[in-house]
Formats: sequence, structure tokens, C-alpha cells
Amino acid sequence: MGLADLHTHSTVSDGRLTPTRLVDLAYERGVRILSLTDHDIVDGLDEAFEAAARYPDLTLIPGIEMSSDVPGTEVHILGHFIDWHHRRLHEKLLLVQDSRLNRARKMVEKLAELGKPISWERVQSIAGEGAVGRPHVALAMVEAGHVASVNEAFDRYLSRTGPAYVERYRLSPTEIVELLLDAGGLATLAHPREIRNLGALEGFLEETTRAGLTGMEVYYQDYSPEDIADLRRIAERFGLIPLGGSDFHGMGGPQEREPGDIPLPIEPVERLLALAREKGCLERARVAHCA
Ligand code: AMP
Ligand code: ZN
Ligand code: FE
Ligand code: FE
Repeated sequence: MGLADLHTHSTVSDGRLTPTRLVDLAYERGVRILSLTDHDIVDGLDEAFEAAARYPDLTLIPGIEMSSDVPGTEVHILGHFIDWHHRRLHEKLLLVQDSRLNRARKMVEKLAELGKPISWERVQSIAGEGAVGRPHVALAMVEAGHVASVNEAFDRYLSRTGPAYVERYRLSPTEIVELLLDAGGLATLAHPREIRNLGALEGFLEETTRAGLTGMEVYYQDYSPEDIADLRRIAERFGLIPLGGSDFHGMGGPQEREPGDIPLPIEPVERLLALAREKGCLERARVAHCA
């Protein structure tokens, strides 16, 4: 069945490759089951499906990554096999995108007050037509010479505790899980190590599995074999499919992984596809004949 990568970004959110170039790169690197999961936006999926049509043995899963938070940290939830034309999903995403725009503008104002001015026009043009995010603000800061790297921009200014951080509208974790299920998809907690406290993670999983969470990322970027073993046990205890992906953005930096560069075994991916078949949402993926 080939390599799988269930977590990637394109220019439609804060990735640096268009959906077409992302699909091409993933395919060249041997990925045969791919999901495009842009932040709070589904507008890249039509293009990704068009690009995927050129590869008969590529399965493409329509996806999204939605942001929420728990006390003290941000959490991201991946939706796979969603109906990306679902009306209520669209309505919610429009609210989120609107608030992203206002928030980015406020962050630019805060940076000016901090003596690190960047141009709002430049942030918008870096973001392009897609959903604007902190990485676009960070790139504008690098260009303006205020910081040496995107990471430094986050560390010194843009992280949740940074002086230029501004909150934005977010749905609660259970609202996101319910919305993704309502849109016909499956819901997976992304990079669970962001919730550092084990008790807090367990509490989070209790609440969200009750709402319908189906999976948890276990294979992710720099997660060690010990992390993976721990997370696998937790996933099993909550009946969650242990998934993962590169979270490729094309942004460079020490954490960056290339599409497919993640030791995700095929067995949980087969479980995900079987669950999608059972729930009647497999048909929304472009399923290659060999899958
Ligand atoms: P936003 O969606 O605007 O809240 O920005 C969140 C995105 O910023 C995440 O999905 C990451 O891609 C990126 N990000 C978060 N923290 C860092 C960091 N420390 N260094 C680089 N990128 C980061
Ligand atoms: Zn991102
Ligand atoms: Fe994320
Ligand atoms: Fe991501």
C-alpha cells in the first residue's frame, strides 16, 4: 500500500507549496496515502484532488486541522474524510478566518508598539489568498530583519506567552470533534505532546472520545521511540487509532520533516480506512485501486 502521511499543509494555510506542488512532492517521495490538512480552511482540497488525479495509485484523503485550546496550551484536531462542502463547517470556518485576519492585524500593531514594525500589506501578500497565520507574521519579521528565523520570531514574540500574541476566536475541543463528525469525517488529536501534563491529556481524551474522537497522532516529527510507545498505550486505552504525519509546511527549520518522512506503520492507516468505509465516508477520499 506504500507510505502514508496524514498531516500536511499548503499555501492555502501556512505551508510554502501549493496543493499541486505538495501532491507532486509527496508522490515523488513515495507517499501513496496522503491527506492535506490546512489550518481552519478547506480551499486547497479541490486543487489537491485535481493534482492527485494524475497519479492512479495515490489515495488522497480530504482533511483539515482545526485549532482549539485547553488551559495553558493550544490543541489541534485533524479531520479526515470530511465533506468539505458541508454548510455548517463552512459557516464556522468563515468565522474563524475572519478572526484570524483581525488577530493578525492586531499582532502587527503590537509589534509596531514593541519597536518591531512590519507592513500589514507584506503579511497579507506572504499569506496570499489563504488563511493568515502567525507563520506569515514571522516570515515578515525575518524579512524586516527583526529576527533571524521563524523560530526566533515565535520564541521571542509570537508564542502564546509572547509579547505580540493576540487571542482569536476558536471552537472548544468538543465543538470541533462534533463539527468534524457532523461534516461526515473522523477526528484525530494532533501532536498530543503539546498537552504536557499526562493527567491533563487523559482528561482531554476522556472528554473528546465521548464527543467522538477516533484517533490520536502518535508518530510525529521528533517524538522519540519512548514517546511513541507511551502514546500508543494511551491511544489503545482510549480506543483511538494511533496515527501520524510529517506536518510538512515547507518552511525549513530544525523540526521540519519532508512529506512521508515519518515512521507511520501501515496497520493503523488500514484501520482508519476500514473505519471510514464503515462510516460511509471512504468514498470522499480518492481511493487508489490498489488501496
Ligand atoms: P496560528 O495558526 O496563526 O495560530 O499559527 C500556528 C502555526 O504556527 C502552527 O501550526 C505552526 O505551524 C506554527 N508554529 C507554532 N509554534 C511555532 C514555533 N515555535 N516555531 C515555528 N512555527 C511555529
Ligand atoms: Zn501550520
Ligand atoms: Fe498543528
Ligand atoms: Fe499542522
